[in-house]
Amino acid sequence: MTMTSLSLTLRDEQQLAEMKRAMMVLRYKVCLLRSTVGRLFSTSSGKKNVRVRFAPSPTGFLHLGGLRTALYNFIFAKSRGGTFILRIEDTDQTRLVPGALDNLHSMLEWSGLFPDEGPLPGGRHGPYVQSERLHLYNQHIQTLLENGTAYKCYCSSQRLELLRKASIRNGETPRYDNKCRHLSQTDMDTQAAEGKSFVIRFKLNPVVEPNNDLVYGRTLYDAGHIEGDPVLMKSDGYPTYHFANVVDDHLMEISHVLRGQEWLSSVSKHLSLYQAFGWQPPQFAHLPLLMNKDGSKLSKRQGDIFVEQFKNQGYMPEALLNFITFCGSGFDDNRKIRSMEELISDFSLDKVTTHSAVLDMDLLDGVNRGHLSRLLGSSKGQQRLIKELRETVREELGGRTNSSLHEMDDDYLRKVLLARKDHIGRLKDLTSPNYAFLWVCPDLTTTDFSSITQYSDFILSSAISHLDPVYSFTKETLSPILRQSFTSLPEGLKYPQCMKVLRVAMSGLKQGPAVAEMMEILGGEETVRRLKTALNHLQR
Ligand code: GLU
Repeated sequence: MTMTSLSLTLRDEQQLAEMKRAMMVLRYKVCLLRSTVGRLFSTSSGKKNVRVRFAPSPTGFLHLGGLRTALYNFIFAKSRGGTFILRIEDTDQTRLVPGALDNLHSMLEWSGLFPDEGPLPGGRHGPYVQSERLHLYNQHIQTLLENGTAYKCYCSSQRLELLRKASIRNGETPRYDNKCRHLSQTDMDTQAAEGKSFVIRFKLNPVVEPNNDLVYGRTLYDAGHIEGDPVLMKSDGYPTYHFANVVDDHLMEISHVLRGQEWLSSVSKHLSLYQAFGWQPPQFAHLPLLMNKDGSKLSKRQGDIFVEQFKNQGYMPEALLNFITFCGSGFDDNRKIRSMEELISDFSLDKVTTHSAVLDMDLLDGVNRGHLSRLLGSSKGQQRLIKELRETVREELGGRTNSSLHEMDDDYLRKVLLARKDHIGRLKDLTSPNYAFLWVCPDLTTTDFSSITQYSDFILSSAISHLDPVYSFTKETLSPILRQSFTSLPEGLKYPQCMKVLRVAMSGLKQGPAVAEMMEILGGEETVRRLKTALNHLQR
């Protein structure tokens, strides 16, 4: 490849990426417009001004824990006619993972959790990415330095490490001893004159602020005693999570903070910060810890909880979201198939429990099946599934489909879906080897019919002669015809063996859907064609 064509390719790729991004922004805007219009018609209850945020750090790809936080914020906002905001907390620059942000946007888009405000749709409280808000944190840290609630700390990393090790040796939580809180002005001037780097710490109030959590009730955590004064601004000029989080929640007028239980112990620090600024804090609601069925903590290290994997495995977004609510929080009946509209209307923060929420992966297929069935009940839903099934088959089987059989037209795909909806968990299951007969003629070159019975050609000829004139190819009409075709059988031959031969001839499978059902799906022409092919094959 020449340099010119290489640079052209790169430029093309860049343009493609930009176009993709622009399309995503456009889709977001359309959804935003839709939800704004929706809200205009639904804010008569006086429950306006609910503003919540999902504030992930792009330190990894979106996983089920993150999706749960996004979902609960989304449904809480929508149930109150409120605003759902996406804020990117990327202040820990050392932990950023390439691609994490794009993954987050595309997974939120896939799951339909479109933010009303955020990096893509924009909004009047932007920018919504913390690394673009450094000027705001600098401005606000000055306020705290000036009112005496923050101070510069010149402790070296070696000293902090020694402190940490000492605490661990004594079996204690590592604690900063607040040394620099007490530096005299002269000490500070000397350190500054030496050009020593510093962080800015918060003077934690010795009187601990209790939190009246909307889920956990009254909680107390004496962070000052346990951890010492926390860092607000790091030496690299970036704020810490605690500081940026509080400043942004205030500036973005967040009314409720819904987030994972692991942040519960941070609230006392946050409340002290609100107090130091003289700001009204939002209300906090912490969501219970997500657990695996075996009682272990759900962890992204397991690798199998990334949202993208569920998408790639063919689960539907509404099923995955619904499944997350099965973990037992926020609803009267937690094991119900619910659409997004129903999740919104049935959700109640009062019903979020404090006991750990178990995600039982074994239930996911059933939830997906429930959504498939529901969609098949409406013509709009059918159209969507038909389109998705066609795409899935093309993706999974590519050139291996024998499209001349039925050209995957809508009627054929509808028939397949209606016939197998109770037997599959995902559309993708229909492309597994057990269902290959739906898309390709079986290859019978190595099939040994004689292992089933010596009467295979009799069975095939008899079925062909009885079926050829049949016009209505439904399970109901076919079952009695099949019975009739095999009433008088040669000595030793049984009806189930006849069915087995027909099943193998049509699908290459010894086990599978009932023969009449297979015939109904394939249709008269294709069934007879396959039986004749098998017979030719036998007679060769
Ligand atoms: N950036 C934090 C996270 O990734 C947000 C915690 C919060 O919602 O306050 O979990």
